[in-house]
Amino acid sequence: MCGIIGVENNENAAVLASAGLITLQHRGEESAGITISGKEKMKTFRSMGLVSTLFNEDTLLNKLPGTAAIGHVRYTTSAKSSLINAQPFQINCIHGNVAVAHNGNITNFPKIREMLLKKGAIFNHTSDTEILLHLIAMSKGNLADVVAKSLHKLEGAFSLVILKDKTLIGARDENGFRPLVLGKIDGSYIISSETSAIEVIGGTYIRDIMPGEIVVIENGKIKKSFFYKKTKQQHTCIFEQVYFSRPDSIMFGKTVKEARVKMGEFLAKQMKGIKADIVMPVPDTGYYAALGFARASNILFENGFVRNHYVGRSFIKPSQNLRDVTARLKLRPIKEVVNGKDIVLIDDSIVRGTTSKRLLGVLKEAGAKKIHFALSCPPIIGSCYYGIDTPTKSHLIAANNSVEEMRKYLGVDTLTFLSLENLVKACSFSAKKDKVFCTACFTGRYPTKISKNTYKEGC
Ligand code: SF4
Repeated sequence: MCGIIGVENNENAAVLASAGLITLQHRGEESAGITISGKEKMKTFRSMGLVSTLFNEDTLLNKLPGTAAIGHVRYTTSAKSSLINAQPFQINCIHGNVAVAHNGNITNFPKIREMLLKKGAIFNHTSDTEILLHLIAMSKGNLADVVAKSLHKLEGAFSLVILKDKTLIGARDENGFRPLVLGKIDGSYIISSETSAIEVIGGTYIRDIMPGEIVVIENGKIKKSFFYKKTKQQHTCIFEQVYFSRPDSIMFGKTVKEARVKMGEFLAKQMKGIKADIVMPVPDTGYYAALGFARASNILFENGFVRNHYVGRSFIKPSQNLRDVTARLKLRPIKEVVNGKDIVLIDDSIVRGTTSKRLLGVLKEAGAKKIHFALSCPPIIGSCYYGIDTPTKSHLIAANNSVEEMRKYLGVDTLTFLSLENLVKACSFSAKKDKVFCTACFTGRYPTKISKNTYKEGC
């Protein structure tokens, strides 16, 4: 998963883009980068690590003068976790200096890369995003038309910001897998992965960029068009609301927080009659679902874990080894809260099961009497090909075990997953919107063709 932002027509473009990136930090902690243009020659700064350590005031104000900027935060798999793949990518080509930042996964990357190699293209990165720059560099004409034509060749998930001089372009794939939103601050437009980044920098969310839409922004003016037919059905990742997006971001007209509260309310309905002393979240993503559960069930809400905020999100670390260390460091139960109690524990999901097992183990060590473990999504039975680094099917616990087998492995008294129907209901805030989600990792029904050659390691 990655986060992207673009700001145009603003003297503080670099400062605003970097503040926006800090707001999007939860979408990727491995590397960050920013490209700025509009005044001097386009410059790109990229580095491994968090945004806050990269863009200090000195870097921003003294080295990055410009009126337009794009930025990127990234997480990915271990093979590609290196500075060379940190974005934005910048090239100099027949269109001049062009930079791109991408969230998603281009599923036909190997096929297009092969075709480009045969035409003599030289690759500097191992990331799927680079093929877009090659496609752009090989076509003559107006940049917006060239981008639209190039995007037509791509399959899979791509939310993008592209920068050339003072021109900012935003685009979203035809299924709209990853979010991309448009906002405004004074006379400047902002494009971002999430609405919260727009609001944090003082802007106002205007609308979502639609699946298949391309927006070209220059000097405070916006032109929109569609590079795919508008009639294609939308398939936005429902896991954004379960796990990835910030609770204060707006999706489908409501905050992600509201969707998570509803997930908890539905879980309480599914577990009607359950007896427990307290409802506890696994911080942070389980928080609002646990609140919804507690309200709906009239069971006391308690925060029984202390979270170490200086440790990153365990799911988005690149190797199993690092993931385990991170999980141990991250959460510690408060003995006085959990000792001798029957607990409903709410988490967002189970992927491999190893992190959950460890967490449940420490909860029992702290004296929990009974644990009813509840998840705010259905069992994950399939890998994601659209930009989320879920492991292959053989490593997904729910793909290879029944709920009862998982319950025994985890050592809990009951194990409950939110049903798909209830998840979709929790995330849909209007009747018209109930068919807009990708739910493939829960159902195995992928919105695009998946084969053994389908690429899955995007950003
Ligand atoms: Fe999201 Fe799952 Fe679809 Fe991937 S497969 S886009 S994680 S719902």
